[in-house]
Amino acid sequence: MEKLKNYINGILTTPYSNNYLNNYDPSTGEVFTMIPDSGEQDVQLAVESAEKAFPKWSLFSAEQRADHIYRIAELLKRDLEKFAIAESMDNGKPVWLAKAVDIPRAVKNLEFFASAITQFSSESHHTGNVLINYTLRQPVGLVGAISPWNLPLYLFTWKIAPALAAGNCVIAKPSEVTPLTAYMFSELCIEAGLPEGVLNIIHGPGKTAGLAIVSHPKIKTITFTGGTKTGEEIAKIAAPKFKKLSLELGGKNPNIIFADCDFDKMLESTVNSSFRNQGEICLCGSRIFVEKSIFEKFKSAFAERVSKLRVGDPHKDDTDLGAIVSKQHFEKILYYIDLAGKEGGKILCGGKRVIPEGRCKNGWFIEPTVIEGLKYDCRTNQEEIFGPVVTITPFETEEEVMIMANSTEYGLASIIWTENLTRAHKLSSEIKSGIVWINCWMERDLRTPFGGVKNSGVGREGGVEALRFFTEAKNVCLKLS
Ligand code: NAD
Repeated sequence: MEKLKNYINGILTTPYSNNYLNNYDPSTGEVFTMIPDSGEQDVQLAVESAEKAFPKWSLFSAEQRADHIYRIAELLKRDLEKFAIAESMDNGKPVWLAKAVDIPRAVKNLEFFASAITQFSSESHHTGNVLINYTLRQPVGLVGAISPWNLPLYLFTWKIAPALAAGNCVIAKPSEVTPLTAYMFSELCIEAGLPEGVLNIIHGPGKTAGLAIVSHPKIKTITFTGGTKTGEEIAKIAAPKFKKLSLELGGKNPNIIFADCDFDKMLESTVNSSFRNQGEICLCGSRIFVEKSIFEKFKSAFAERVSKLRVGDPHKDDTDLGAIVSKQHFEKILYYIDLAGKEGGKILCGGKRVIPEGRCKNGWFIEPTVIEGLKYDCRTNQEEIFGPVVTITPFETEEEVMIMANSTEYGLASIIWTENLTRAHKLSSEIKSGIVWINCWMERDLRTPFGGVKNSGVGREGGVEALRFFTEAKNVCLKLS
């Protein structure tokens, strides 16, 4: 069975412990690769190699760094098909989805930040003819980048591309649940001739490898995407060491549907925003609020569409929902479906495990599930489930729906469906989230700020926000004689 390797100092290496962990294909429940069980010693080696690489990499011109990143992007485009199949095997998502979204977006992340760094500028402030203040934007040094399993290569590159483009050296850790495409990415970096030590990729569990990155005194900047609880643990370690932190955390996003919306467009998009990627996207709208006058119409049209979604083998082109990423996560989702029943919810459709015929019979699959009849403040409606489960709740007034929408500890994204733009603007300003989509979902312009409020995170990624995060502002004040 293939054993993945760490990527340290430009070469593929075995972990110091010489121990490996099982990596499962969630669509079959079988182990298909082994992951390095890395820890402090591996991180230490990565830090030493990054420190050696930093002076030269940070002094390259922006164009030189961009050229290196473009080269990796080219190779990734060449291998798109191979990466998409690997992403699907690791995560359970349909191959067509990885081909259409995950891997193309990883290419785009690299290309976007390679280009963005050549356009990056800083401020200067003039006071009469006497004082000139100008701001240098210098790389922060060594960056620790930790990413989750739901959009593995997509989110991994979303972090490392701006960090590298800005002149930093990176020690990155993909999720131990989905390490494969990050490993394949390290092979591409070698082929592309990325200078050794500039990017180091360490595999292993969060509690050992992840913790070693967060705690290392030489890594002063951490970019993390994952669960809110993990974000809290990281912040506790980073705060007393005064590390720069970007935290992209959990969500429980409202999807608010008014009677005056374009119903067909809304319905199509709401099926996607509920169940795309098995509902395992932090931006999915898991709490659907529908204006009372169209609640019954929505309920029957939505349930009809959802019950037609096909769950099963991620290799099939007509599969809508693939496997849930891990057995542990599969059990967590089923627990919440059960809880919803105990809290008085009625399952409109779905709610059960799916056992496909053939090679996927032992995989972890769950029907897309729609639940009604729950109070907005019950646990099912407050806690992040992160799976193919949505609730639907009627509302009568804007005030009422704003109270329900803003009631959770999270504030990542919101969706509003209305043709009344005055209302859309008003509610966008009142809603407590970092991202608002009006009459659409998941439309992404990489120049825009990305991130959440409340317990959904601290800081913003995307465009210039990311380049600012990965650089230190130094003001220089010059007095003219
Ligand atoms: P997770 O927090 O369990 O793990 C995320 C990463 O952190 C993994 O690489 C893991 O190994 C590592 N990790 C775990 N414990 C650690 C520790 N103590 N120290 C350092 N690293 C540690 O999250 P997950 O289950 O992989 O991902 C799902 C979560 O991610 C959901 O809550 C989802 O909402 C969130 N998410 C947020 C965004 C966003 O942009 N806000 C995007 C995607 C996913």
